[in-house]
Amino acid sequence: MEKEIFQCRRCGHCCHGETTVSLTPEDLARMVAHFKMSEEEVIQKYLRVTGKVIQMQIENGHCIFYNDGCTIHPARPWRCRQWPLHPSILTDQANFSAIKDSCPGIRLSDYGRFQRKLAELIERHKKQAGS
Ligand code: SF4
Ligand code: SF4
Repeated sequence: MEKEIFQCRRCGHCCHGETTVSLTPEDLARMVAHFKMSEEEVIQKYLRVTGKVIQMQIENGHCIFYNDGCTIHPARPWRCRQWPLHPSILTDQANFSAIKDSCPGIRLSDYGRFQRKLAELIERHKKQAGS
């Protein structure tokens, strides 16, 4: 069903820019396990810490892990996994428009239809998680 509303075109747009998503403690732990390094080494090599916010370093205008696709795909942060199907789209049409304009993988431009399909998808994921 997801493919009815979204299919990644691997354009890399969401991995470009001067900031990235921020990491949760679980994201950091996943990266540490992925690289088999200490947390300090992973932070020093790949991340940047601003107060309590941890993000990926930016290199040449994109996330340090971007190289014609995500090079840490199995260990990428949950916000990267969720993008662009963010639940806020369900209640915020302006957000849907902004996301649609920046992500060519969105396949339905009609907000009402997109909303219904995404709501069904989220409900299905919840049921699967609970079963
Ligand atoms: S912007 Fe959309 S289509 Fe492009 S790489 Fe990101 S998720 Fe995929
Ligand atoms: S971790 Fe991967 S998916 Fe997330 S911004 Fe970096 S390159 Fe893109």
